[in-house]
Amino acid sequence: MAADVVRIPLLINGEFVQSQTQEWRDIVNPATQQVLAKVPFATPAELDAAVTSAGEAFKTWRKTPVGVRARLFLKYQQLIRENMKELAALLTAEQGKTLPDAEGDVFRGLEVVEHAANIGTLQLGELANNVATGVDTYSILQPLGVCAGITPFNFPAMIPLWMFPMAIATGNTFVLKPSEQDPMVTMRLVELALEAGIPRGVLNVVHGGPDMVNGICDHPDIKAVSFVGSTRVGTHVYNRASLAGKRVQCMMGAKNHAVVLADANKEQTLNNLVGAAFGAAGQRCMAACAAVFVGAAQEWIPDLVAKAKTLKISAGVEAGADLGPVISRGAKARIESLIESGVREGARLELDGRNPEVPGYEDGNFIAPTIFSAVKPGMQIYDQEIFGPVLVILSAESLDEAIAIVNANPNGNGTAVFTQSGAAARKFQEDIDVGQVGINVPIPVPVPLFSFTGSRASKLGDLGPYGKQVVLFYTQTKTVTARWFDDDTLHAGVNTTISLK
Ligand code: NAD
Repeated sequence: MAADVVRIPLLINGEFVQSQTQEWRDIVNPATQQVLAKVPFATPAELDAAVTSAGEAFKTWRKTPVGVRARLFLKYQQLIRENMKELAALLTAEQGKTLPDAEGDVFRGLEVVEHAANIGTLQLGELANNVATGVDTYSILQPLGVCAGITPFNFPAMIPLWMFPMAIATGNTFVLKPSEQDPMVTMRLVELALEAGIPRGVLNVVHGGPDMVNGICDHPDIKAVSFVGSTRVGTHVYNRASLAGKRVQCMMGAKNHAVVLADANKEQTLNNLVGAAFGAAGQRCMAACAAVFVGAAQEWIPDLVAKAKTLKISAGVEAGADLGPVISRGAKARIESLIESGVREGARLELDGRNPEVPGYEDGNFIAPTIFSAVKPGMQIYDQEIFGPVLVILSAESLDEAIAIVNANPNGNGTAVFTQSGAAARKFQEDIDVGQVGINVPIPVPVPLFSFTGSRASKLGDLGPYGKQVVLFYTQTKTVTARWFDDDTLHAGVNTTISLK
């Protein structure tokens, strides 16, 4: 192996150490194909070491005062802010998205770190006074132990920050397995977390692919697993880790529909739709990748296409770039083959983004905005998550028909309606069977005062990331029923009933 290529370390027991594995994978800049670093596929012994270190650290971390935990995340959020530009540059180099969007990726994670700094109020239990004579009942939310997180390539800052800050703030210790495609910004965030004061062993990092993920699912000393990634892998992780007795939450693939009514503000709607369909080259789990134009709104399709044509496609580092490359040559080939299938299956290709010219970046994995109309369920471009800059347009004659289309799709991550009618928006909100709804907001990812609440085939497990739900995910509720005897109760005698007396 060339000595000058950076080798990404593991983090075990507070030390950045090199893996002893023989299996390494290149981290490649998707705009240039430059190899930025190599990532190890760590060994089972290294996973064991990480889990052992987290298990040891849990013994003290679980009892660390809540103020100490909170102040650590106050410090961490400050460090992330101070290093925002460097983090975004790393992220763009390995992931491809534009620099402003990379800052957005870090920022949406930073909001969770800020939320973790409020852990004192988030992890409060409840108390009911005098549930029986002289008896109080109270609940406490106790950490689980060693938890693990498995993350995807598309948000290498935000999604790791969905996981370890809230897990650690609630008193758990953590083993993180970042995406093997772009772990560099994740590692920089981990360095900053240590700088903020996360003690030895409380946060550990292992790298790898399917074998490492399976090792995490099976490990007897890991209590809970958070996964974000594709539906195929997430379903596997959910089943395998649940079978091993773990608590599991899996956020998975999507097909997010934007429903456009003819009474919508046309200019705002088309701008929002283009941004949400093609931003980050469509590689967002909440991208508006399917649009349902209702009634007369169908006449707007040529204007939508005209707007999409104005987007600038280039490397994420170039000023003014609207979208960068997709993550890998494999992803590009897969998206192009889905575009071909759309043509073959009879959808109307309104805008063909294949093989765009991107001066200076001839080797990049670029696909420009692509739009299909006359799309129907049953076509591969509709039935599959494309995860690229491809918008598929369906038509409906009424809001009811549009809602029926969305509800018939198995996915439930996000959806949006564009309308100026409060009544239509309210009907949509009531009748749509999707866990996150935008009203004139194209990517309704909730801020961490709330939880991420994807639904149906986009999610397995009851509790979502961040917000109130994740506090429950990362804790065990213990309910204590307590009586302190005083002399007056001594004559009560033996109670052989279930009633509290
Ligand atoms: P992916 O499923 O390929 O990879 C996710 C993780 O699983 C990675 O850490 C990877 O190493 C591991 N993995 C890959 N193949 C595996 C296998 N066969 N067995 C065990 N583990 C394996 O996902 P990706 O391509 O990195 O990310 C894109 C996907 O993530 C899209 O489907 C997107 O919708 C989804 N996503 C969902 C959300 C959400 O909140 N619902 C958010 C972001 C991304």
